[in-house]
Amino acid sequence: MQYISTRGGIEPISFTEAVMMGLADDGGLLLPRAIPRIGSETFAAWKDLSYPELAFEIMSRFIDDIPEADLRNLINRSYASFDTDDVIPIVHQGPLHIMELFHGPTLAFKDIALQFLGNLFEYLLERDDTVMNIVGATSGDTGSAAIYGVRGKERINIFILHPHQRVSEVQEKQMTTVTDSNVFNIAIRGTFDDGQAIVKSIFNDLKFKEEYNLGAINSINWARVLAQVVYYVSACLHINNHENDKATDFSVPTGNFGDIFAGFIAKRMLPEGSIRKLLLATNANDILTRMVTSGDYSLGEVAVTSSPSMDIQSASNFERYLYYLLDKEPHKIKQTMEQFAETGSIDLTDFLVQIQRDFTASSSTEEEVEQTIGDFYREYGYIMDPHTAVGVHCALQHQEQGIPICCLATAHPAKFGETVEKSIGKSLELPSAITEILGKESRCELMDSDRNLIQDFVRDHARHQ
Ligand SMILES: *Cc1c(COP(=O)(O)O)cnc(C)c1O
Repeated sequence: MQYISTRGGIEPISFTEAVMMGLADDGGLLLPRAIPRIGSETFAAWKDLSYPELAFEIMSRFIDDIPEADLRNLINRSYASFDTDDVIPIVHQGPLHIMELFHGPTLAFKDIALQFLGNLFEYLLERDDTVMNIVGATSGDTGSAAIYGVRGKERINIFILHPHQRVSEVQEKQMTTVTDSNVFNIAIRGTFDDGQAIVKSIFNDLKFKEEYNLGAINSINWARVLAQVVYYVSACLHINNHENDKATDFSVPTGNFGDIFAGFIAKRMLPEGSIRKLLLATNANDILTRMVTSGDYSLGEVAVTSSPSMDIQSASNFERYLYYLLDKEPHKIKQTMEQFAETGSIDLTDFLVQIQRDFTASSSTEEEVEQTIGDFYREYGYIMDPHTAVGVHCALQHQEQGIPICCLATAHPAKFGETVEKSIGKSLELPSAITEILGKESRCELMDSDRNLIQDFVRDHARHQ
């Protein structure tokens, strides 16, 4: 499988080249040249596979430059760190199927992709006998999942910027109690956006990027999307067993359009009628909901909510979807993205019919999130986190008679305990993954939000060949 850029400015490259490139060199995002199609017979034959076996079947259709045995081994090791054998247990609660994606080491769904990406980076660096320095900014969940993905790895150093005192205590502890010598946490006096801007600016220093072989772990990396396609397929197989092969809806709480884009790829891969609709669920940061309901993709102010991992306006994976919407014509994507950079807005009203064939959308207010967590607990005894509740609220609004619906549970409720406890009116039992770190020694640099200071810090602590 070859990979191309949404903006058409690079020669086709292989999967492993795409993983190492992160963002395409022409500023676009990398995509497979074609989405492989799975026939009904093949799909049906997958129903008894374990999660890692299924992951191999799917990923190997997108990867042809890693030997089969090596890819199997990478996948097996990545999912052995989860606390259940089925990796992504699906529970049935009231009218919903809930896919729990939070059984990895940092209790959020980002582990599913970042455990794999960490092992993949290690493998490729070994193969090419080289080293990498990862630099990333986080608002909370990505940082810890990336750190757990690469801690202790020989050829990788990781530098993660988080906004000082603006992440939750659990999120901070998850990052800073990892004291392996290749992990560098930097708390900056500033916001997540300041951190993101510094990271972008460091990556734009192409000489520095090349000299230190900077690596990207945010969801623009294709390997992250690919790892997430797997659980949509797994859920379809599971729900088919329960509900006699009915087309399924998925409800996905989203901010960066990463997770739901993986669902879009799965929908195109699988036999017609496997996935019916993707329900796109947002919090008050509703740019993506407005895009689906009215064709208006225009930036607003970032609002702070109880689902902070979705407090995003500019969705970094949206360009990948735009590629399919605009007939895979790179010049149109380039022009549209340039216009968006200038005006902060894209008018997609002409594409509404096409958009609504795949997506339905709605947003939740803070009250609706708390109400959903509280009601669901009182009615079914099931406790969910605020991000999951945004998706569940959307699912309950749009559920149609006779159509099974699968909600993605993206974080463990204890990770966002304050809102959850307030909503259910009692305190939560903490999982050992949290109690173990709360008293642990931590290590972190506190620095001004100054690009040059941070670049100097990376230079001084970088791994060299
Ligand atoms: C990152 C995150 C999301 C949003 O995922 P996107 O890929 O940005 O759409 C939702 N919930 C949780 C808990 C997250 O950490």
